[in-house]
Amino acid sequence: MAEDCVFCKIVAGELPASVVYDDADVLAFADLDPKAPTHILVVPKRHYVDISELAGDRDASAAVLAGVAAVVRTLGLNSYRTVFNTGVEAGQTVFHVHAHLLAGRPLTWPPG
Ligand code: 5GP
Ligand code: ZN
Repeated sequence: MAEDCVFCKIVAGELPASVVYDDADVLAFADLDPKAPTHILVVPKRHYVDISELAGDRDASAAVLAGVAAVVRTLGLNSYRTVFNTGVEAGQTVFHVHAHLLAGRPLTWPPG
């Protein structure tokens, strides 16, 4: 657990979250400030700063993608977008890697 990491605290149960999926490796919960009608964050339970660090652990990488698929199944989504913001200039604000899972209305492409 990384000190002062908000997602590590959610994983540890020290902060509340609206959990939609939970397994040994992954937790998925509703974003506090949703940017779409459905906005779920899928995080590995172990702390990795970003997708580049996560990629060094193939099992954890696969677990995050499987977690996305599990949430998609649970919520019955058939069209959705996944986003990994990486670095401050790309909009990353929480430095514990997370997939944004967005759905619920047409999403424009490319994003602004
Ligand atoms: P990033 O900007 O790093 O790609 O995404 C971080 C996301 O985490 C943001 O969409 C933000 O709304 C969400 N977030 C930040 N703090 C919390 C929190 O304490 N609980 C939840 N559920 N989401 C959070
Ligand atoms: Zn963390």
